[in-house]
Amino acid sequence: MKRIYFDNAATTKIDESVMKAMIPYFNLEFGNASSIHEFGQKAEAGVLNAKYIISKFLNCKPNEIIFTSGATESNNTILQGVFSDFKGHLITTMFEHPCVLETAKYLLRRGVDVTFIAPEKNGVIDPQKIFRAIKEDTRLVSIMYANNEVGTVSNIAHIGKKIEELNQKRINKILFHTDAVQACYFRDMDVKKLRTDFVSISSHKIYGPKGIGAFFMREHTKLSPLMYGGHQEYGIRPGTYNVPAIIGFGKAIQLISSKNHKKTIEKMKKIRDFIIKESLKIKGVFLNGDREQRLENNINLLFENIEGESLLLKLDLEGIACSTGSACASGSLSASHVLLSMGIKPENAHGSLRISLGKYNTMEEAERFIITLKKSVGQLREFSPFK
Ligand SMILES: *Cc1c(COP(=O)(O)O)cnc(C)c1O
Repeated sequence: MKRIYFDNAATTKIDESVMKAMIPYFNLEFGNASSIHEFGQKAEAGVLNAKYIISKFLNCKPNEIIFTSGATESNNTILQGVFSDFKGHLITTMFEHPCVLETAKYLLRRGVDVTFIAPEKNGVIDPQKIFRAIKEDTRLVSIMYANNEVGTVSNIAHIGKKIEELNQKRINKILFHTDAVQACYFRDMDVKKLRTDFVSISSHKIYGPKGIGAFFMREHTKLSPLMYGGHQEYGIRPGTYNVPAIIGFGKAIQLISSKNHKKTIEKMKKIRDFIIKESLKIKGVFLNGDREQRLENNINLLFENIEGESLLLKLDLEGIACSTGSACASGSLSASHVLLSMGIKPENAHGSLRISLGKYNTMEEAERFIITLKKSVGQLREFSPFK
């Protein structure tokens, strides 16, 4: 049985060309990028080239890019770095990725004033709610670009523009951060248009290797480091460079800038729309999150009178890999904080399934998925105590 991978929001398969680009940096150019000899210089040249590619992609300067081990570290560094003295006010949302949400809760416990904005029922943030929450001592606004569970996209450029306007009249400037991990492959990432001070991205969500990420930090922004050590990344993120991973990350970003990228997204959109259309024909099935303001690869379905976990396991037995929410939430019995924040009832939140497409998925896979889904839903409902 050929397995189908519909969990691309959790991680993506590495692109062959990315892997190829990385290999020489394991055994040929294995030097420490901070060493001055030629081994080091070759490694450093690779790092700088990757940084250059990523800076072009974000429309910023290479020295505004900081490499990290991933978006979890990027987000922690930014939030904890801005609030290292645990003073002032933070605005974020109730449906952020756990690495932002849990860091915000930690800061709250340490004395930071935190406002958690609830998304609208359709999973989109109302910018007015952010602007109304701004206080005299607001230091950071952190709003995710696209949600990892429901794929809904917020208007970051609009929020950024307004914050910039407000800052012109303020002594205490507000910094603006967006977690753009899920949006990176699909949306405009030009930081001059987004008007952000920080942007977090991750390699393994865009066909690059795991364990490498980065964040954009606008020049002259002050940030306390989480760790102390060497001079790497201006001391903000010390530690020996993971050169092969950085090379792979750069290559993965380069692929997004390539000519056929738009076509790849169009293909995913077609498959997405087919799955949505066919799934909604099944009785008691609804789409979570806005129909239009959503990523081209995301489908999040609500099944009345069905346990999401049971459906997930049934599909897995048929060789189809989906998710009931974020990978981090599975394994815990509590319903998805994202769906609950959108006002979905706990029993319905438990009956949800996320299908996240990637560039390797095909329409044939989508057709097999729909047949299997109909069969599985029928079987589960037959034994449902709710019937
Ligand atoms: C995956 C993900 C993260 C965490 O990224 P890692 O690189 O795996 O640490 C953060 N935010 C969002 C929205 C994500 O989807």
